[in-house]
Amino acid sequence: MSTHSDIPFLDLVTPHVELEQELTAVFQKVLHTAGFIGGPMVENFEKAFAEFCETKHAIAVNSGTDAVRFALMAAGVQHGDVVVTVPHTFIATSEAISQAGALPEFVDIDEATYNMDPEQLRVYLERKCSRDASGKLISHRSNRPVTAIVPVHLYGQMADMDAILELAERFGLVVVEDACQAHGAKYYSGKHQHWFTAGSMGRAAAFSFYPGKNLGACGEAGAVSTNDAVIAAKIRVIRDHGQAKKYYHDVEGYNGRLDAMQAGFLHVKLQHLARWNEQRRERAAEYKRLFEANGDCFQAPYEPSWSRMVYHLYVIRTSDRDGLMACLKDKGIGTGIHYPIPLHLQKAYASLNYAPGDFPVTERVAEQIVSLPMFPQLSAEQQATVVAEMVRFVGKSNEANSKELVGAPQAR
Ligand SMILES: *Cc1c(COP(=O)(O)O)cnc(C)c1O
Repeated sequence: MSTHSDIPFLDLVTPHVELEQELTAVFQKVLHTAGFIGGPMVENFEKAFAEFCETKHAIAVNSGTDAVRFALMAAGVQHGDVVVTVPHTFIATSEAISQAGALPEFVDIDEATYNMDPEQLRVYLERKCSRDASGKLISHRSNRPVTAIVPVHLYGQMADMDAILELAERFGLVVVEDACQAHGAKYYSGKHQHWFTAGSMGRAAAFSFYPGKNLGACGEAGAVSTNDAVIAAKIRVIRDHGQAKKYYHDVEGYNGRLDAMQAGFLHVKLQHLARWNEQRRERAAEYKRLFEANGDCFQAPYEPSWSRMVYHLYVIRTSDRDGLMACLKDKGIGTGIHYPIPLHLQKAYASLNYAPGDFPVTERVAEQIVSLPMFPQLSAEQQATVVAEMVRFVGKSNEANSKELVGAPQAR
């Protein structure tokens, strides 16, 4: 039953109502100039977003999916190449790999961070690939050359980039970050003794501005960040039908531009992103405090000392997910599962010939994860209600069958 006291999984109305005047002004400006595509609004947003990512360039495109695809193409991934990623991500990651003409191959995740496990990546590169006569790294599965890695910064936490970049360098591979869930996340590189922002460590990185992301448009949008001027120039051409000059098409490209209105909306919202991310971190700390105050009834997400997470999603684990979600739904509390079916077990990828058991960590995690309400405007009172219901649920379950139902194994 829905009531006014429902706690949504995500509140997209409040932040837009709060910014209504500024957003309406953008709309009016575009309307009065008819500058719908390209122009200064797009360029100004690109400059501001590059600054936010601490990169030299940002190129706005029409979605996060195209951002991954164009970044791979511009970074030199060729038709028929293999691109390595994880099976625990949104399907857009692997769609973009396929749409760039490449073949996705997977390595398992780390159970504590849910991100690419560098140890699994090492095993894959050392044992499941070998060099051919010309020195190319060939995947045994597909007999095709491996040329790139796409680590995904899932839930707002960066993958262990030092370890991944070191392997990439050793094997001559390009790294394109899927930062679609990680605007503003940070990683402390022990190698460089320096904090890096998501999107500034790989050869290029992809961001999505789908409305529900930490920075969301009022529609579809995405961007690529990079420090590489050649890649930036290539993406500007790819997103605009392969033309650097109107009607002079050096290559075949795409209609992958971002429209001016979305760029204007994003520029307004970007001014608030650092604060919103900080509020997400405060909400995460509050969940953690509430769990601890209730006898560690649930485990907070793991944030290594080298990570500064921006909590795009707040994910916990339980061995009775259906029960917990039904109980919360009954009280008007929204939850989600990100994601219930690992990519290697999706029907769309039957032709890749993976099987259950191939990625045991991903498969175990996919059965136990639940995403709780998480957005900057979430209140401590709402969180207290959510956790109180969770505690009540644990109590009921324990009574019902006296066996341990909650508390998933966590590798640290
Ligand atoms: C949202 C998302 C994408 C795709 O972005 P769109 O803007 O929806 O195309 C890609 N990868 C990940 C990990 C995402 O969360």
